[in-house]
Amino acid sequence: MATKLYPWQEDIWHQWQQLIANDRLPHAILCAMPEGTGRDKLVQYFSDTLLCLTQGTEPCGFCHSCDLIQSGNHPDLHWIKPEVEGKSISVEQIRQCNSWALESSQFNAKRMIIIEPAEKMTESAANALLKTLEAPPKNCQFVLLASSLHHLLPTIRSRCQTWQQPVISAEVITQWLLETEELTVNTQSIILNRYLPLAVKSFYQDKKQVSHQQLLSHFSVCVQSSFCNTADVVKTLLKLEDEGLCWLSYLLSDIQKRQLGIVTDWIHCDEKETVERLAKSISSNLIYKQYLSLNTLRQQLNDHPGLNKELLLTQWLFEFIGE
Ligand SMILES: [Zn+2]
Repeated sequence: MATKLYPWQEDIWHQWQQLIANDRLPHAILCAMPEGTGRDKLVQYFSDTLLCLTQGTEPCGFCHSCDLIQSGNHPDLHWIKPEVEGKSISVEQIRQCNSWALESSQFNAKRMIIIEPAEKMTESAANALLKTLEAPPKNCQFVLLASSLHHLLPTIRSRCQTWQQPVISAEVITQWLLETEELTVNTQSIILNRYLPLAVKSFYQDKKQVSHQQLLSHFSVCVQSSFCNTADVVKTLLKLEDEGLCWLSYLLSDIQKRQLGIVTDWIHCDEKETVERLAKSISSNLIYKQYLSLNTLRQQLNDHPGLNKELLLTQWLFEFIGE
């Protein structure tokens, strides 16, 4: 098969293989794993294995079922995502899942229903799924993919066996990127991308590290001058969406640490000079206030994409010279 798992997934995969071999798979698996760990690949490989007609612990890659998976046309594989990216998974979509779950397999084998991201199910969608999980149809395997467990109904969680990806070490990420992409990465970029290997990869390959540097330098100039030229910062932030605000939030958190005399565990561990300079030139009260309002602003922008982001960001930046 085309899919080869990532090195940090091998432990979980071996445990799943044991469950498959011993016929002890729970009918619903909840993968509580952030995006950026390659969770899709793990679940795809699991699904390929269960649908393969050889019924082994790896997909054979040659049977009719494996052929259909490769052509993206397997009738027993249903991967449910929001109909519009970023929106909810509707109750109608879950009702359709429930009806697939009750159908018989086209190949007299398993049916796979994968829901991603499970936290995007509306409450009525989650309740509709719950009914099926409470009385699981035979030979139907559910997999729920979620970034965190917090947004899922406890009743859904209690009906699934939960699997989490353990934190992937900086050494594993560094080694993997060197071997597969010939990329040399620094520790700051790994911390900045929350130890998520695919996010680190994209940080370098999509030139986000350049944008990160630009943002830091524009922001430093902006908040340290009495003129407060917000245009460059806002322009960079609009290009980056939430990621840019997340980096700024980390920066403000590092500045607060410096002001409190904490000099270890900074996210921006390679930007000591910038952090030191900002910690000296902006009052700790103002940094604290701006840190809180930035996090509120991020939440608002995520919840209400229609808001005037440019205006709100400009207002937030002007608060730095408002005192
Ligand atoms: Zn096969």
